[in-house]
Amino acid sequence: MKKNAKGIQRRSVLKGTTALLGLGTASLVAGDASSSRESDSAVVQNTQERRPAVKETIKITRLETFLVKPRWLFLKIHTNAGITGLGEPITEGRALTCAQAVKEVEPYLIGKDPRAVAHHWQAIYRHAFYRGGPILTSALSGIDQALWDIKGKVLGVPVYELLGGPTRQRIRVYAHASTPEDIQRRKAQGFTAFKTGPAKKRPARIIDNKAFIDYAVEQFALQRQAVGPDGDIGIDFHGAVPPATAKLLIKALEPYQPMFIEEPINCQNVDLMAEIARGTHLPIATGERIFTKWGFREILEKGAATILQPDLCHAGGITEVRLIAGMAEAYYAAIAPHNPLGPISLAAGLQIAASIPNFLCQEQVSLGEGYIRNPFKVVNGYVELPAGPGLGIELDENALADKIGHDWRNQESYDADDGSVVDW
Ligand SMILES: [Mg+2]
Repeated sequence: MKKNAKGIQRRSVLKGTTALLGLGTASLVAGDASSSRESDSAVVQNTQERRPAVKETIKITRLETFLVKPRWLFLKIHTNAGITGLGEPITEGRALTCAQAVKEVEPYLIGKDPRAVAHHWQAIYRHAFYRGGPILTSALSGIDQALWDIKGKVLGVPVYELLGGPTRQRIRVYAHASTPEDIQRRKAQGFTAFKTGPAKKRPARIIDNKAFIDYAVEQFALQRQAVGPDGDIGIDFHGAVPPATAKLLIKALEPYQPMFIEEPINCQNVDLMAEIARGTHLPIATGERIFTKWGFREILEKGAATILQPDLCHAGGITEVRLIAGMAEAYYAAIAPHNPLGPISLAAGLQIAASIPNFLCQEQVSLGEGYIRNPFKVVNGYVELPAGPGLGIELDENALADKIGHDWRNQESYDADDGSVVDW
């Protein structure tokens, strides 16, 4: 009896505290939104989504996925409050598998309050028993993005405000380029940071010759010249250059000071990547095929990379990448979110960039033109902090209409001489 009485007393104290916290948060948010963020309220109106009172019961009612060209999968989480959250739960080339993985998580989420984001992350990840892998962590990542989007919209603030930000006034982004002409075009669009790959006339061999190395370096030198000494250009080996050849190529590239060498080898042998990192002064970057804090732990502990590139759509979403950034900070490592995906992925990366101290640069392949209202704009290499609530974006349903559906498949790549399978 005594125990029960204590239990009841504790519950009522907690209830009272929660109510106080709820009221406090509501009034603070209202003050912020009305006094300093006029653009926020404009976005809330644009979304035509009613902002419920903080204490109001909110329940998830439906998870909706749809394929979007060129190879993406978008997620909308619907609630009974009329607010929806956006995410991209995608492993490239496995969009339908990811859609099914989201479908299998749906019964857990239906009827739940979307605002317990970290709790849902734990439940979805740990109750799966087998934990991660690309499909489950990608499904979880998209769900996590959508839950943060809902939470921010409910509270009327960008996600980075809920993560302690902003930590910066604007966010540097980089563009892909494979020729000096590409770089000039991107420079004219406002970019100052770029990423290329090793130029090659055929896939790299296990031990490659001088002609292969010389050609790759000559082409990189031309691109470096186009960027200029004040700009930055990284080079992505894509895990497709075998280790012995990768070592030769890195050494030959050193005089041109790439911003980073990305995936110098595949990330399945972290000791070997660490050996490569010790053999050069160029920063090593990796992370697009590494999942959760447990995947990045080994990279940091073994000194295999100083730039981590978690993908917001693979590594575990905003919740997990924020934690990975904290782990990286302890190793003086930087975060450059990987993102060859769509505008929701970009928006999630920008929220992380705006809330961590050790951000380097955000990858993008689309600023959202033709997909979202008010696409992001690049000025002098940077985009402005998103001002809208949640992820700060709104899908342009009309523009999206002709982009629904795709059957994108991963590239097949073979050795030109003997037909054996090679990485791409
Ligand atoms: Mg890459």
